[in-house]
Amino acid sequence: MTTGNLFIISAPSGTGKSLLLQLLLKNNILKFNIKLSISYTTRMKRIGEINGKDYYFISKKKFKKMIINNEFLEYAKVFGNYYGTSKKNIDNFLKNNIDVFLNIDWQGAMQVRKKKTQVCSIFILPPSINELHRRLYIRGKDHIDIINQRMLQSKKEIYHFHEYDYLIINNHIHDAIFDLKNIIYAEHLKTKIQFNIYNKLIKKLLKE
Ligand code: 5GP
Repeated sequence: MTTGNLFIISAPSGTGKSLLLQLLLKNNILKFNIKLSISYTTRMKRIGEINGKDYYFISKKKFKKMIINNEFLEYAKVFGNYYGTSKKNIDNFLKNNIDVFLNIDWQGAMQVRKKKTQVCSIFILPPSINELHRRLYIRGKDHIDIINQRMLQSKKEIYHFHEYDYLIINNHIHDAIFDLKNIIYAEHLKTKIQFNIYNKLIKKLLKE
């Protein structure tokens, strides 16, 4: 049976991971059907964000109810707010042969690795701490106190890079997209995946 591939992408806040994913998916530069998972969060909506597109913005009470009902594939507290991935949504995509990207932190990545046997995880690093700070600042989405708090968290997040299968340095966005594309292609060419697709051919080749 074939299923979609599950990808995890993590990076310190401000590394440019969301832009990277946006560009990758927007221009349809890959021949694969890929969707970005939309997480649930208790964080306040930022200006310009849309419920159901950027996140599902829900109350703490609803989030806790979802935890009790075992609705999350993973969830974590990040920067004081809860974020979680719906188990049902992900399984629906995978079942329908659609690749899914989870844009989640290292705590969530750890939980997914324990639950799913086949998952490819990618970590993105900024080219320097100064550049990370600059990107968070010019993004202009957060108050300076929040930026400083995120910088501290980012440094902690960086320690987890070695838990991931692939590492990308996002210095120039187009190079990073190139790297990401290659990882996705490589995953699709894995023997296990190819065998699922071409098992009839392979069995025939072995017989003849
Ligand atoms: P932001 O508040 O900037 O949108 O996201 C903050 C952090 O939360 C990011 O590092 C992002 O990867 C992480 N995050 C977003 N959604 C999820 C999720 O569903 N689960 C986990 N564990 N982390 C998430």
